[in-house]
Amino acid sequence: MSDNGILIVTEDDCKQLMDSGAAFDAVRDIFGRMASGEARNFPVVREAIGHADALYGFKSGFDRSSMTLGVKGGGYWPGNMAQGLTNHQSTVCLFDPDTGRLSALVGGNYLTAIRTAAASAVSIATLSRENSTVLGMIGAGHQAGFQLRAAAEQRDFEKVIAWNYHPEYLPNLGKVAEEVGLPFEAATIEQVCVQADVIITITSSFAPLLMNDWIRPGTHIACMGTDTRGKQEVESKLVASAKVFTDEIDQSTSIGEAQHAFAEGLITKDRITPLGDVINGTHPGRSDDDDITLFDSTGVGLQDLAVAGVAARKAMDAGNAQTIQIG
Ligand code: NAD
Repeated sequence: MSDNGILIVTEDDCKQLMDSGAAFDAVRDIFGRMASGEARNFPVVREAIGHADALYGFKSGFDRSSMTLGVKGGGYWPGNMAQGLTNHQSTVCLFDPDTGRLSALVGGNYLTAIRTAAASAVSIATLSRENSTVLGMIGAGHQAGFQLRAAAEQRDFEKVIAWNYHPEYLPNLGKVAEEVGLPFEAATIEQVCVQADVIITITSSFAPLLMNDWIRPGTHIACMGTDTRGKQEVESKLVASAKVFTDEIDQSTSIGEAQHAFAEGLITKDRITPLGDVINGTHPGRSDDDDITLFDSTGVGLQDLAVAGVAARKAMDAGNAQTIQIG
């Protein structure tokens, strides 16, 4: 990345350099390259460290076409909020694929939020009906605002309808809707399902929230919250009856939303399609206005490396990048 040492890209730099459009392009392209085999995620490490209730891990991979090699390290520290810090903490290390030297350290917190929002936005752009007008939000935590903003850029939505387990969080999400110029309505989960053309689920739920019978034909659902064994946002019958797309099939059936339908024998891996196949034009995606499409986002390291790589290149191009030497 830099011939003169290790490039430092801070959280503030990332906020200035990266917007939702740059994240969208990076995530769409990396999903395509994962599907074509040019880019590969490596096995994820995730462990409870037995201290501070923390979950700690690494996600890594290599994208040959952009020569991006690296790892995102960090995890979840539930007590951070009380100290005025974000519970999710992460940093991306990028390495020179020719030599293995560390080339950049990039703050990962803001990038994680925009790469996750970009994943659902790419699914909406790729799979939802073009005439979708109602956006449904299930969840109103840290990620939800980023999700709403990125989704609003994909379709001409006319309103947002939302539910959250903690209703007191909803006004914050309402402010984001107002900022992007959309009317906002709080509702029950069933009302969200019955009215919305596109639904984003972004909660830490361990029990199904969306029921199969509530979903109308033609709906697109971006399941963003389930990224760990045991979590669940959608009834397994709904996963089984939808056209299912994902970032990584093996993660979808082990830690993603499809894990329950898969364990119950309601879906097989060959019924789950990499979203990158639709991006690359090797799968048609939605083929009928009545299809129910479901994107099972499990979160992959290459998404983080793709946005971190773009942020690092933009920092270099801006000409005022900080670097350090470690010999
Ligand atoms: P957060 O802690 O800020 O928000 C959690 C949300 O879940 C809130 O809306 C909260 O009200 C809701 N919630 C809490 N308990 C619930 C329950 N029992 N039933 C239903 N809802 C409940 O978290 P966040 O940073 O907004 O992340 C939300 C989820 O997205 C988490 O599960 C996180 O692991 C996941 N995530 C996924 C990806 C990905 O790539 N797919 C990336 C980042 C985060």
